[in-house]
Amino acid sequence: MADYDYDLFVIGAGSGGVRAARVAAMSGARVAVAEEYRVGGTCVIRGCVPKKFMVYASEFSHQFQTAEGYGWSPSEARFDWPTFLAAKDKEIARLSGIYVTNLQNAGAELAHERAHVVDAHTVELEKSGRRITAQRILIATGGRPWKPELPGVEHAITSEEAFHLETLPKSIVVAGGGFIALEFAGIFNGLGVQTTLVHRGPNVLRGFDDHVRAHIAEEMERRGIRVILGCQHESIEKTANGHVSHMADGSKLESDLVMFALGRAPYTAGLGLESVGVKLSENGAVVVDEYSRTNVPSIWAVGDVTDRINLTPVAIREGHAFADTEFNNKPTSFDHELVASAVFSQPPVGAVGMTEAEARHALGKVDIYLSRFRPMKYTFFGGGERCLIKLVVEAETQKVVGCHIVGPDAPEIIQMAAIAIKMGVTKPQWDQTCAVHPTLAEELVTMREKYLPQELGAAA
Ligand code: NDP
Repeated sequence: MADYDYDLFVIGAGSGGVRAARVAAMSGARVAVAEEYRVGGTCVIRGCVPKKFMVYASEFSHQFQTAEGYGWSPSEARFDWPTFLAAKDKEIARLSGIYVTNLQNAGAELAHERAHVVDAHTVELEKSGRRITAQRILIATGGRPWKPELPGVEHAITSEEAFHLETLPKSIVVAGGGFIALEFAGIFNGLGVQTTLVHRGPNVLRGFDDHVRAHIAEEMERRGIRVILGCQHESIEKTANGHVSHMADGSKLESDLVMFALGRAPYTAGLGLESVGVKLSENGAVVVDEYSRTNVPSIWAVGDVTDRINLTPVAIREGHAFADTEFNNKPTSFDHELVASAVFSQPPVGAVGMTEAEARHALGKVDIYLSRFRPMKYTFFGGGERCLIKLVVEAETQKVVGCHIVGPDAPEIIQMAAIAIKMGVTKPQWDQTCAVHPTLAEELVTMREKYLPQELGAAA
């Protein structure tokens, strides 16, 4: 067997790469990791974690309003962005440090520089120029925000810059109808920024259940976000006072800032993958099989760079499965079925399994259970916010194949629902579960009446 410097070289110290490196190193393998930016990757440095802190920060304004309904007179509430930023950056630095320590404790070596692939068993570190050989190479470089080519696009920020704004704008136009657009629209709105969301489609969150899509757009508007659908940017003009978004329908939107959240692209540029014959898809994603193997036998890829399901826990599981297969003699492929997801919009969304449309298409006859109601926390003072809970059940087997929630704590609730659905729970078994009262989630197990098709118009 050829003698390599390392058993595994990982490019990218994000969620997937770090997990794979740690598990491999703990098995006794000689592991090295290269990271060009900060250890922790998108999730820890400029994604899930700082985003969740921003969501927490922005939710207080709504909570203060709710508090008034309960008799509180909150003394003058004032938000200080620099104070928040400093605290957020401190916590992110702490978490990134933990990732570094965990890698070191596992015995992996870390190179703080960019690396690219030279041949099937060699990588080059770009700052030091060092060439390193490895029996296996793992690509875990994640994704990057993508912006379309249109005049003035350089004036639009993406989520990357949104985490580090020196000052909060007074107004913002957020373009996009996906996870990031909805989450940041909620954040800015909650922080007092006059927020407009523009999306090209007929409704936000394509791929989610139609009832959820209609409901979340309505609830975001209720919270003060202006939602403009069927509309997209043609150009952005920078003016003395801010920006003007020129829209395809001829309308103009003025704002201090414009943010594009129009998707992310796999980060494979300049990695040298094409030169060693690694197959990439049209959008640059590394093509892999269920064991995260590329078509080059010594190269694997996990996480967003493979563009399968672009979620942190999925990348972690893919990285772990790779390391178990290759270093722990435990062939493991991660099952991408029934992965729950959450959108931290305000209110948030939790979903697992099939939408009603997908189920009707795949299974034919389905039973739908749908409940829209005002949670007791808000009815108390006449607040208008509504929740939505929906179950999609295969009619013949009575298997619950989808669960969709919009409302407070939806991401927490969906985690538990996902366990039951992954286990193949049927509606009668689901209903045998006694309610926890008084909660929002109890509605999940008390829905007995099927939702009738004539009511469908409500979700259009
Ligand atoms: P998404 O794919 O979720 O959304 C992209 C949005 O941009 C869609 O609404 C899409 O519209 C729109 N769009 C795409 N191209 C154009 C265009 N040329 N002009 C106008 N609109 C366009 O991407 P995000 O950037 O929001 O997030 C990337 C991924 O990161 C997510 O898919 C998710 O996997 C992950 N993520 C997960 C989070 C979580 O778990 N909470 C949070 C943030 C990100 P259309 O629907 O019409 O295609």
